[in-house]
Amino acid sequence: NLSTKLDKAFKTLKGQGSITEINVAATIKEIRRALVDADVNYKVAKEVTDKIKDEAMGRDVLTTVSPGQLMTKIVYDELTQLMGGQKEDVVMKGDPAVILLSGLQGSGKTTFAGKLATFIKKQNRTVLLVACDVYRPAAIDQLKVLGEQVGVEVYSEPENKNPVEISQNAIAYAKKNNKKVVIIDTAGRLAVDEQMMKEIEQVKRAINPSETLFVVDAMTGQDAVNTAKTFNDRLNFDGVVLTKLDGDSRGGAALSIRAVVEKPIKFISTGEKMEALDLFYPDRMAQRILGMGDVISLVERAQQQFDEDEAKRINQKIRKNQFNFDDFLSQLEQIKKMGNLKDLVGMIPGMSKQIKDIDIDDDAFKPIESIIKSMTPQERSTPEILNGSRRRRLAKGSGTDIQQVNNLMKQFEDMRKVMRTMNKMSSTKGGMAQMA
Ligand code: GDP
Ligand code: MG
Repeated sequence: NLSTKLDKAFKTLKGQGSITEINVAATIKEIRRALVDADVNYKVAKEVTDKIKDEAMGRDVLTTVSPGQLMTKIVYDELTQLMGGQKEDVVMKGDPAVILLSGLQGSGKTTFAGKLATFIKKQNRTVLLVACDVYRPAAIDQLKVLGEQVGVEVYSEPENKNPVEISQNAIAYAKKNNKKVVIIDTAGRLAVDEQMMKEIEQVKRAINPSETLFVVDAMTGQDAVNTAKTFNDRLNFDGVVLTKLDGDSRGGAALSIRAVVEKPIKFISTGEKMEALDLFYPDRMAQRILGMGDVISLVERAQQQFDEDEAKRINQKIRKNQFNFDDFLSQLEQIKKMGNLKDLVGMIPGMSKQIKDIDIDDDAFKPIESIIKSMTPQERSTPEILNGSRRRRLAKGSGTDIQQVNNLMKQFEDMRKVMRTMNKMSSTKGGMAQMA
């Protein structure tokens, strides 16, 4: 599977201190090949791996995690993001709410109609299934059998060959009979066909559903992407249902479809039984595509451990009055990792109201960082040596001005003063813990 392939790809990275341009190039190529093997469309795979490369470059590799594992985590995060990040629910608005199903013949529409009816019924809503596949009498029977099986009424008009009329009549029937959700099963062709497209377009226009779902067989790989695009161009559907994920399909279609039509995948279907329906979770699908077990939690744990060790180390330095610019920079990194600065400040009691209207720019740290990064190692560890000419050099090197450098020096000195005072207080009053 992809995970083993990634392992192989990461061999070149093993034993390296950080991920660099040279050692990442071969890996990226392998990842791209592995994604294509998992049915991800080539163009999408290329976009994904380019992003992953940007993300990976220059990341420090923690001692307890191999570069391979770190890369896997980066790949996993990127895939999850690309598939929408979070699950999205089907929209049921209106009385009755109408859900229209579209897709090729054999994609699993009728089966999904039964599953969705079961799913919605469990939420204590009354459901009506509507048979609009008017070309095959067997299709109507199939839905009737499913309806009986799951205890949901099926509306059909075997003599009427007009799906627009049937669906309108069905909605009127639902209103009269207090059905809250109407699911319309439609006909499909073996390949995309103009008459079928027109027909479902007309149905959509006539009944204005709150949700139009496109049902697609995940096993069809590249074709799934093309079909999705054709349907979306005509129907502008709201969401995708991926079926037959119980087979040996590797789920790559999920990524490609999402990337190409930019519509969320809402359900996955994993079998012929009525219970075999799941909501779509991007992170789980990313795991499926990667097939990678617990690599992620391993990396997360290592990351956490690293943060804790770092916090301890800095605490020690503060206590010994040895806090320097290296530590300052490390603190900045930690803060940035914790996310949005405004959110962070907002968590301080009483602060959220005060900062509500103030813009806190996440780039606010940029000049500070570039000034510190322009320092020599000696200047970072012993800031006292930063005289006028050194400061001018820093301003030049960091693209800031002398005023900004002086401000930073002043802030830094103030910080150290506070730390020294706190240390003195704690040594006379018996420890920092009591101050809190
Ligand atoms: P429709 O033509 O789009 O209505 O497709 P059907 O619902 O009739 O399904 C076509 C075939 O695929 C049937 O044999 C179903 O039992 C089968 N099928 C549908 N969904 C799934 C699924 O999630 N997994 C598997 N293994 N088979 C499925
Ligand atoms: Mg059908």
